Amino acid sequence: MQPPANPAMLLAHAPIDVVVLDWPPELSGVLVMRPHGPVIGLNRRHSPERRHFSFWHEVGHYLIHRPRLPSGLLACPHPASPRTADLELEREADIFAANVMMPADWVRRSHRRQSTLQALARDFGVTPTAMMRRLRELGLRPVASTAAGGFR
Ligand SMILES: [Zn+2]
Repeated sequence: MQPPANPAMLLAHAPIDVVVLDWPPELSGVLVMRPHGPVIGLNRRHSPERRHFSFWHEVGHYLIHRPRLPSGLLACPHPASPRTADLELEREADIFAANVMMPADWVRRSHRRQSTLQALARDFGVTPTAMMRRLRELGLRPVASTAAGGFR
């Protein structure tokens, strides 16, 4: 069972619009500030799992950083590089997205049951890369990454 990080539930109650567009692969998401609510842009070329993470990343920018953001547009590259304008903002938005999509208690419980990284990532609707990063953040040993078998 996945945690209830369902974008549709948020979008039904918040003045946030979402557009999905063809962008270069290095651009993950965009947050456009408008007086009556933001627009979140996502990259059509990315997998649904990556777009899902990018969605919550942009929601994180909106909720956490809105007072500090200039009006206009915030573009989020992936991966963030040392040239990224504000690495701290990017990191905070990533932490927000990870906590919404992969709550610590849920990950710990699932980690005890699952044998592979792929299975965990699938259960949470994220990429294996995002799940690996989350496991490390929580001090959990990464699980076997082979599709068949694992530690059973
Ligand atoms: Zn960002």
